[in-house]
Amino acid sequence: MVVTRAAGRCPAAHPDDPTPCVGPVVVSVLDAVGGGANGCEHHDARLLASLDQGRVYALPDAPQGAAIRVFKAADGIRPFCWLDAPRTESSQLSHIENRARYRR
Ligand SMILES: [Zn+2]
Repeated sequence: MVVTRAAGRCPAAHPDDPTPCVGPVVVSVLDAVGGGANGCEHHDARLLASLDQGRVYALPDAPQGAAIRVFKAADGIRPFCWLDAPRTESSQLSHIENRARYRR
């Protein structure tokens, strides 16, 4: 996977996501086949929430707890959350929403 860097934002920022970076590039998110993007915690959390079987790692100079903060944040973020569309399928909801909806 090739990730191009949008002007002024980290490589994990999706081109359609209008939000600015929050902090420096400190984590890396990998997809199921090993493609990935280094990014700020904000954009890598949004990226992780949009992937099936994604993983997050702290980069060597990351502050303590960066990867777990991204992991926890992604749990409550809907996939491709910058899209304004009906959210009716489980694949369109956050992990937290799916756990609440399908709790047994
Ligand atoms: Zn960013």
